[in-house]
Amino acid sequence: MIPKEILKKIELVQGDITREETEAIVNAANTSLLGGGGVDGAIHRAGGRAILEECKKIGGCPTGEARITTGGNLKAKYVIHTVGPVYRDGNHGEPELLANAHRNSFRLAVENGIESLSFPAISTGVYGYPLREAAKIAIGAIAKELEANSSVQLVRFVLFDQTALDAYNEVLDGVVD
Ligand code: ADP
Repeated sequence: MIPKEILKKIELVQGDITREETEAIVNAANTSLLGGGGVDGAIHRAGGRAILEECKKIGGCPTGEARITTGGNLKAKYVIHTVGPVYRDGNHGEPELLANAHRNSFRLAVENGIESLSFPAISTGVYGYPLREAAKIAIGAIAKELEANSSVQLVRFVLFDQTALDAYNEVLDGVVD
């Protein structure tokens, strides 16, 4: 069960994460950090060249880890790039890797004094993670981190379409006392 005071810090909205005004937005990147399709492409297009230049210097990111750059032209000051797992059948470490991607993004935010951040539905696009399972892992991992770190005030999941919003809502409703 997630305590009520922790649930208050988790928001679910439908929208385009590139327009978010939280201090940081999380990017569902790939291990090269050199951009791609989906939310990754949208963030690089909206944020401009500065983000890509920093990503090139960083030189990549293993699955489950996270790296931080400027937000470039975005409203968000920072982009936290993380790499979710490609879904095969759920028996190849995918749940742990997806939890790590959320956990490590959150921890990087804490280390950088960030108090509000937005996540997309990591791995649920091209990487094929079933939405409801991904939602359970994402919300579970973030709730644990919020319990451990009181500095972060808001974690907003920005879901691109109604189906994703519904899945995350159902999971969040299921864990309320
Ligand atoms: P992955 O490779 O991790 O699966 P994708 O970018 O393909 O990443 O998809 C991750 C999720 O991001 C999907 O649910 C997709 O619908 C969503 N998405 C795509 N563009 C945006 C956007 N601009 N803002 C928020 N979510 C987005």
